[in-house]
Amino acid sequence: MALFSPETETMNRCELLDLQNERLGILINHAYANVRFYRNQFDAAGLNPDDIKTLDDLKKIPFTTREDLMDNYPYGMFAVPLRDVVRLQFPLGHYGNPIVIGYTREDLKIWRELVARIMVGVGITEHDIIQVAFNYGLFMGAFRFNQGAELIGAAVVPASIAPADVQIRIMRDFRSTVLVSTPSFALHIIETMRTQGIDPKELSLKIGLFGAEPWPESARGIIEEGLGIKAYDIYGVTELIEPGISGECTEKAGLHIFEDHFFPEIIDPVTGQPLIEGEEGELVLTSLTTSAYPLLRYRTHDRTALCTKPCACGRTLVRMNRTFKRTDQMISVRGINVFPEMIAEVLSGIEGIGPEYSLAINQHAGMNDKLKICVEASPESMHGENEAALHEKVQSALRKALGLRVQVEMKKGSSLFLVDMV
Ligand SMILES: [Zn+2]
Repeated sequence: MALFSPETETMNRCELLDLQNERLGILINHAYANVRFYRNQFDAAGLNPDDIKTLDDLKKIPFTTREDLMDNYPYGMFAVPLRDVVRLQFPLGHYGNPIVIGYTREDLKIWRELVARIMVGVGITEHDIIQVAFNYGLFMGAFRFNQGAELIGAAVVPASIAPADVQIRIMRDFRSTVLVSTPSFALHIIETMRTQGIDPKELSLKIGLFGAEPWPESARGIIEEGLGIKAYDIYGVTELIEPGISGECTEKAGLHIFEDHFFPEIIDPVTGQPLIEGEEGELVLTSLTTSAYPLLRYRTHDRTALCTKPCACGRTLVRMNRTFKRTDQMISVRGINVFPEMIAEVLSGIEGIGPEYSLAINQHAGMNDKLKICVEASPESMHGENEAALHEKVQSALRKALGLRVQVEMKKGSSLFLVDMV
């Protein structure tokens, strides 16, 4: 078993708890002293930083939500002065106010190490050639694979959004051993290989890391067979780090959460009450070591369950089930988060378009035109030039707001369902 940080990944759970409690104390004081939002939240709840001595006390603190981050845009959630921030990132695909997340040099160092941990955990070594087929322009996690790979000495090929046939050529010519992409793009590559009559045995691929959108076990089977690899799931949260919160080990028995940096809780999404180990609910995360953008009890809206039973790989870190469902309506398309609220907001600002729409994603269609939005238009706007102009207006407004190419279909006013996933 290969480990990047053996001292923490196999730590006795009592020692891990001590480490987490120690880090929590520092974090709470840091957040209270430097983030006005948390100071106000503590004061309103009649809490003092000294009241939070251990992780058990954490439940006294209210949750932090995405809305809180939007309300405090741009710098209201920052815990360090801007001179200490070395990177600012804003995830696309949020409705309402955007969100900007800052990282100090130390934050980025930790992030890089966590991505390296994922890589080592699935057997990637300095001998590997890692082909990263994520969109570097839009998916902010893409660069983290480069840095994680550099840390372990592997070679990176940032193939980014090159079309599938080019990706296959790179794989074959460069003898890439690892593919990192969305699972839907991996499926598209497999389809293209079949069309071109390319056998996976002609490639040198061994391992795949896939994430940024949910993918069922059935897709894992297709990807493993189609590319002749072992395929692993990775998990991150845009508002914290993505990827780098957790990753599967070679046992494929859940994703180990890096608990020395993130403390997980599972709650009932309706009542907010904590659930016991093994029960499925919403994942809530507290960042234990973040300097610039600490989040306490952040509601991820991802549904999962936790398991602290020892894993056959030897790691003692808790495992989370793979996530397939959300407790809100967010969907992920090519690593970009899309909220139905955001689509509604864009459509409501366009005259001649009704409030109802339907949305379809084809998870197997590959990179182009995967997201289709069907909108209602008033009969007057569905005439000749008006129709073409309106269509263009809707398409470009959605593309601008979502950061994604969207296929728009207009229909004369009729009732449609809100979300329809295919
Ligand atoms: Zn394991």
